Amino acid sequence: MRYEEPVYRPPSEAGSLLIQATIGCPHNKCTFCGMYKGKRFRIRKVEDIKEDLRLARDFYGEEQVRTVFFPDGNTIIMRTPQLVEIFNYTRELFPKVKRITSYGSAKFIIRKSLQEWKELKQAGLGRLHMGIETGDALLLEKIKKGATPEQMSEAGRRVKDAGIEISEYILVGIGGKERSREHALASARVLNEIDPHFIRLRTWVPVAAAPLYADYASGAFELLDPYDALRESRLLIENLDVNSRLLSDHVSNFANLNGKLPEAKERLLSEIDEILAKPREDFRDQIIHYL
Ligand code: SF4
Repeated sequence: MRYEEPVYRPPSEAGSLLIQATIGCPHNKCTFCGMYKGKRFRIRKVEDIKEDLRLARDFYGEEQVRTVFFPDGNTIIMRTPQLVEIFNYTRELFPKVKRITSYGSAKFIIRKSLQEWKELKQAGLGRLHMGIETGDALLLEKIKKGATPEQMSEAGRRVKDAGIEISEYILVGIGGKERSREHALASARVLNEIDPHFIRLRTWVPVAAAPLYADYASGAFELLDPYDALRESRLLIENLDVNSRLLSDHVSNFANLNGKLPEAKERLLSEIDEILAKPREDFRDQIIHYL
């Protein structure tokens, strides 16, 4: 397969065939994110993407591939007819494919109409991973996410209305100590409006390529300690009124949570309380050096 590294995918796509339809991120301004800072954004030619799919078919055969993920960031910026062509071609080459997935930010999701999203669903797009990060308007502006809480909510609902599974990400700790409470409560509000299929928690870990790293290094941004990060997650979960599976399926988190809301709410809160009672040495270092 031909890749321009680094290539990122969610843990839930660990078993998927990865085909880069776009390189880098067309937004690339989020202050907390260092994923694509060194990459110049571009959309690959449909013929090249199709060629990659054929190479994968020749390598794996047409039976083995069941899920396909299209990185990099915001591949959904591509024109709808192009995406439809790629997704249809994917299903043609891999008749056993059960799910096609991609990343998409609210800023780009709302550029497509509900009808276009339905066309993408029809072509095979089964799931979209979208980073809300926070529902707090002030914080969204500060981290340069490129969308308001209202746009986040509109985007999530549009994808869901088209019949596509939506997986929403919340970035624990992104408000620092200063806005932790506002961040948790406002994020719960936006998630309640969307009622997504999945809610995934990630805790912000300083990475040198992210612009926010300089604030962290200078002390201007105060990283939450494990207890504050867990209390923030607790407040978020407490205020959720959704029918979603909540997961913290990532090494950045201090707790490994997994439960279907609303049924699992009390269990998840008690699990957090149990972890909160542990001594500091039981938690990993706040900085993960290999991220
Ligand atoms: S968080 Fe997503 S939208 Fe923001 S810069 Fe990173 S990849 Fe792009």
